[in-house]
Order: sequence, then structure tokens, then C-alpha cells
Amino acid sequence: MDARTPVPVALGGPSARRPSRFARELPVGEAFLSRLSGLCETVDTSDEGRVGAGRDWWPLALVWAVGGVAPALPAAVARPSDAAQVAAVLRACADASVPVTAGAGRSGVCGGCVPVFGGVALDLTALQGIVAVDDTSLLVDVRAGTFGDAFEDALRERSLTCGHWPQSISLSTVGGWIACRGAGQYSTRYGKIEDMVAGLEVALADGRLIRTGGTAPRSATGPDLTQLFVGSEGTLGVITGARLRVHPAPPSERRAAWRFDDLPAGLEACRRVLRRGATPAVLRLYDPTESARSFGVSGGALLVVADEGDPVLIDAVMGVVADECAGAGATPMDEAMADRWLAHRNDLPPLESLVREGIVADTIEVAASWRALPDLYRAAVGAVAALEGTIAVSAHQSHAYSDGACLYFTLAGRPAPGEGAAEAYYRQAWDAVMSATAAAGGTLSHHHGVGLNRSRYLRQHLGPAFDVLSAVKAALDPAGVLNPGKLGLSSPFGEVSA
Ligand SMILES: Cc1cc2nc3c(=O)[nH]c(=O)nc-3n(C[C@H](O)[C@H](O)[C@H](O)COP(=O)(O)OP(=O)(O)OC[C@H]3O[C@@H](n4cnc5c(N)ncnc54)[C@H](O)[C@@H]3O)c2cc1C
Repeated sequence: MDARTPVPVALGGPSARRPSRFARELPVGEAFLSRLSGLCETVDTSDEGRVGAGRDWWPLALVWAVGGVAPALPAAVARPSDAAQVAAVLRACADASVPVTAGAGRSGVCGGCVPVFGGVALDLTALQGIVAVDDTSLLVDVRAGTFGDAFEDALRERSLTCGHWPQSISLSTVGGWIACRGAGQYSTRYGKIEDMVAGLEVALADGRLIRTGGTAPRSATGPDLTQLFVGSEGTLGVITGARLRVHPAPPSERRAAWRFDDLPAGLEACRRVLRRGATPAVLRLYDPTESARSFGVSGGALLVVADEGDPVLIDAVMGVVADECAGAGATPMDEAMADRWLAHRNDLPPLESLVREGIVADTIEVAASWRALPDLYRAAVGAVAALEGTIAVSAHQSHAYSDGACLYFTLAGRPAPGEGAAEAYYRQAWDAVMSATAAAGGTLSHHHGVGLNRSRYLRQHLGPAFDVLSAVKAALDPAGVLNPGKLGLSSPFGEVSA
């Protein structure tokens, strides 16, 4: 796999004897592997290739990795070079009832591309590059395996931007963004990835290639089939290409920072900014713990603001922000605070050193209405802080909308030594934040997706609507081969509990 930065905590040694955490891999016969080799440009059955393709950045799996345990091992890694090869691989897997799990940058943090039941790991990173640009309509066709930084560089050469800036931009791909319903750091101006997707090319489990949407800005031809695949995490089809809405490269930008007495006061000001229709690209509000840790601001909540685009619009937007912040009694801070955030916004967390020190760390992003956010913040932070072993728990508002916002929790704990203690602490911390979010009526994930980690919550979270998801799955993937074990869906290969 062409992952840009290796997943932290290397797993050395021969995978043939390596234990896998789930130990649910199915045998795959030589006849199937030989058929696969005839369908796909590259098929890798090496130990190194299989270990690499069996994991991502899911923090719990990094804990397992310290003990030399892989989450799961595919029988083979197939690396198709075009959409037709992707479709052919899916068809072959469906025919032979072999699980097939899509993966690209493998920067997912929920175990989404872990091939729980083995089978084929489908590496999409050979599907690279921009196919067509319509500058008049501001639409771009791009192959799904294109890494974010390469995509944005190619757009800038044409004086365009996608506006999607996840922290993991150099680790992740366009297809991965869409499959997980990702969010970039500038989402308050440009939207989440689901707002940017105009249409898709998707390979179905039966080997058909379909196109959805993309022909007009809006449509009333039945339900939106494009959005059916956005966020489906490789369980309903494999995205091979996308038509995305893009923007002129911004000619100008502005930054600001404000200090509030506490997080709820800052949330209220952000709510009022959005209510007035102002959408600064970045509107990030840090609780007192994070304000002190990352910005040296003590006893208050720091709001970092940045906007870019047409200077006339920026003036108006930053004017609204200043108005609402000053009106709420916030103190203007040195713009250098925003510069500091921008300089470090793509830094990678020191996960490997933390894990090797015995610390369990993770981030949990949820979203809820403005009305629910202050109580949700207090409940989730309070519940994690009360767990034995917690060292730190904090949050910031990372993405804001007229009706609510995303709260992004960061937690770290040092569980007592002992078999299974790290895993138990990790599950308790997740249960605490998920149940606080459910009680607040929020959504369990704003942009990281479900993967394996949130699978155990999904059925209850969606209620009777979960049956609709199951029915769609059964219709599109009757053999159940596409990324089995994810989204809480039943699988013909068995059940797993993460
Ligand atoms: C340090 C760090 C920072 C991060 N910051 C952000 C952030 O700011 N915003 C954000 O949204 N996320 C962030 N993430 C999470 C991750 O980068 C995103 O989820 C990203 O969208 C995953 O893309 P990927 O190409 O790495 O996908 P993978 O990890 O390879 O796969 C993720 C899931 O998508 C499926 N999938 C991948 N490609 C396809 C395809 N073409 N068709 C169908 N299914 C597919 C896989 O089966 C899997 O279920 C961060 C991760 C890290 C490690």
C-alpha cells in the first residue's frame, strides 16, 4: 500500500505466525488467488504487504501492535490500476464469497479498513490524479485514490482549491474522505465533503460500474443516490472516482483570536456568528484545558478565527465575528495565536511514544445542536475524568453550523498494568462519551466515521432506521462480501465486537 506515513508502531516479523486480534480470517484457496492475479494489475501475498494492509491509525490497534498483534490479516492485497479492475475484483469476490475490504491512505482512526474476516484487501492508491477540470462550472473529476496534498497542489496550479483540509491531508485520499464523510479544518466556509461531492463513480459488488449525480447542481429525480455511498465506508460499493465542487484559489485571508471566560460563553458567541449567516473558514474554540496546553492562555477559552476568499466577503464575515465576540465581552488576543494554530494544523500526534509509555489516548468527535452542546461538553468531560486512570480529558469546537457544532474530545489515560486493562479503559472512555452524546440527542460521529470502533453503538443509535441500512446492504451486496463487520451490519462470516 502507498500509505504516505507509516502507521505508528511497526509490526515486524513474519505475518504467517503473527497473531491477529480478531482471529476470524477465512481460508482463501489458491484457485481464487490465481483468478485474482488475472484480474488485477498487482496482487501481493507477501507477509509485509498483508500486515500493512490489515491496519490503520485506530489507536486501540496501536496498543495491540506494541504486543506484536495485528488487528487482522488479509490473504492478499489487490492493487487495481483502474475502475474496471476494481469492478472485476469485486465481482470475483462476490462470486467466491471472499470478503473484500477497501483501503487507501489507511489514515482512518476507527479500524474501518481492517479486513476482519481476511480475504482481499483492496488497495485503491493506484487510482491517482485529476481526470478533468471544468473551471467555468467549478467542477473537477478526480480518481478516488488521489492523496489530498497531491490533489490540492494540482488544483492550485490551476488557481483552484478544493477547500477540504483535514489534518491528515497528506495521509488520506479523496475516496477515503468520501467513504468516511470527512471534514476539513476550513469546513465552516467550504462545507464537509458531502457538500462538495457532486457525483460519483462506484463499483458495485456484482461488478457493475455506475455513475451517480454530477450532471446538474441540484436534481429532483428521486432520492440522492450519490449520498447513499457517501459515508458508506466501503460496505455498499467501492468509489472509483468523484466529481467535486471546487472554488477559486483564495486571493486573500484574515486571522483573529479572542478569549472568553469559559467554553459555554464562546459557544454562544459562535452560535450568534453562524445565526447571522457569517461563515469564517475556521472557527475553533478551545476549552480552558486546551487553551492553556496549546496556546498558553490560562483560565479561559480561546477562539481561533481565520477566513479566506473574496476580500469584500472576508471584511463582512470578520466584522460579524468581531461584533459578536466584543458584544459577549471577549478579549481580543494577538493574531499570532491564530498564526500558531495555522503553523501546526497538520502536525501528527505523538501516538507511538504515548502508546509505548503505556498511555491510552484517542480523540472522539461528535456533534449536537447548540442547545445541547454546553451540557454535552460537561457530561462527557465529567464522565471520562471520573474513570480510574484518566490523566487528561478536554475538548474544542472544531466545525460550526447554524444549527449546532462538532465537539472534538481528546483523552489520555494510564490504565493499571495487567492483561486487558488498556482495552477495558479504552472501551469505558468511549462508552462514556458515546452515552453522553446519545443522551444529548447528538450524533455519535461528526467526521471520523464508524469503522469497527463505533460498530457496537450503531444499531441502537439509528433505531428502526437501522433496518433501512440493512435492507440497502442486502440489496447491493447480497453475498455480504463488502467490508464485512463494519457499520454494525450483520455479516455472513460471523459477528465481531471491537
Ligand atoms: C493524524 C490524523 C488526523 C486526521 N484528521 C482528520 C480530519 O481533520 N478530518 C477527517 O475527516 N478525518 C481525519 N482523520 C481521519 C482520516 O484521515 C479520514 O477518515 C480519511 O478520510 C480516511 O481516508 P483514507 O484514504 O486514509 O481512508 P482509509 O483509512 O484507507 O479507509 C477508511 C474507510 O473508507 C473506506 N474506503 C477508503 N477508500 C474507499 C473507496 N475509494 N471506496 C469505498 N470505500 C473506501 C475503507 O474501507 C474504510 O472503511 C485523521 C486521521 C489521522 C491519522
